Amino acid sequence: MQDFLPFTRPTIDDETIAEVIAVLRSGWITSGPKVLELERALAAYLGGGRQVRVMTSATGGMEMALRAAGVGAGDEVIVPAMTFAASANVVVRVGARPVFIDVELRSRNATAAAFAAALTPRSRALMPVHFSGLAVDMDPVNELATRHGLRVIEDAAHAVGTRDRGRLIGSFGDIISFSFHANKNMTTVEGGALAFADPALALPLDRERFHGITKDAAGNVDVFEAGGKYNLTDVAAAVGIGQLRRLPGFNARRRELAQHYFERLGPRLDPDMLPAPGDDGHSWHMFVVLVPFGRLGTTRDAFIAAMKSRGIGVGVHYPSVPALTYYRQLGWNPAAFPNAARIGAETVTLPLFPAMTIGDVDRVCDALLEFVKR
Ligand SMILES: *Cc1c(COP(=O)(O)O)cnc(C)c1O
Repeated sequence: MQDFLPFTRPTIDDETIAEVIAVLRSGWITSGPKVLELERALAAYLGGGRQVRVMTSATGGMEMALRAAGVGAGDEVIVPAMTFAASANVVVRVGARPVFIDVELRSRNATAAAFAAALTPRSRALMPVHFSGLAVDMDPVNELATRHGLRVIEDAAHAVGTRDRGRLIGSFGDIISFSFHANKNMTTVEGGALAFADPALALPLDRERFHGITKDAAGNVDVFEAGGKYNLTDVAAAVGIGQLRRLPGFNARRRELAQHYFERLGPRLDPDMLPAPGDDGHSWHMFVVLVPFGRLGTTRDAFIAAMKSRGIGVGVHYPSVPALTYYRQLGWNPAAFPNAARIGAETVTLPLFPAMTIGDVDRVCDALLEFVKR
């Protein structure tokens, strides 16, 4: 029996593990010099000209960003129907209303035209999601936002290292949120980062992140609002510093593996079953395929079980957000977003992570092709 192949697995090198141990032995383990070093390294990676704050999760970061941008009760934020629930949940948590839009089938991304069609007088922000590491075409989205005086909070949880027309996601635009959850292209175990250029966001974000506290020049503490508690630890930051060093190599390896999936599956599957290939800027956070379970007379559960019996893990990213019980109870009809509904019903995430071999990809393809042939 071969080793079980999970759909993803982090790669933490020995050098990084040694740095984590050094932080643990240093006597300073929570937010301190390593957090500052990670923020500086991320800002440099994004090419300078951006401020970066790291925090305990992307979910927390997006909630902080919405609050810092003044989004709240009575406001609407336009969110794709195909994303992780967190993208919509954070909008609800700040008292605003998520307004869903459908996505394109193969890219899983929302277009500027779809954002434009959902605008109302209450719209305050747009939330493009760079699904699976494929960039949303951002220029028309940012132009739309500028024209209507809206904020743009990019959910770039999948997109650290992604490029849009050659520009790194996070190096331009309004507020960009990255996730460093264990499954993402780089990790701090749990964690996230915001990149932004607007200097007016720095103070409210710092207060949101740490109890509303600001220190004066003499070091006296005062609290100016009921802030939250989202600061990353130096232990986690040390993991992130080591991961960021490896990120270009990780993403290049992800692209090679994705290319092999296309070589194996492209000639055998209906094009709608395959994800959009993108270009060199795709960071391949996930390789997602659609399997027409209904047409094949089977179910996704049966597929997952069949793959598992062959030692292969697959994921489901994601159910359509308006189909989730909470959002249905708010009155959303999942059938109004047909591409998201189809993706939600048919999607499976095949294994893709930097330590995989080409032979692992072949093994997954053999199992998938055998299943769909029946
Ligand atoms: C992972 C993810 C998040 C949340 O990231 P956390 O760091 O786990 O909070 C948000 N949006 C998308 C699209 C994600 O995949």
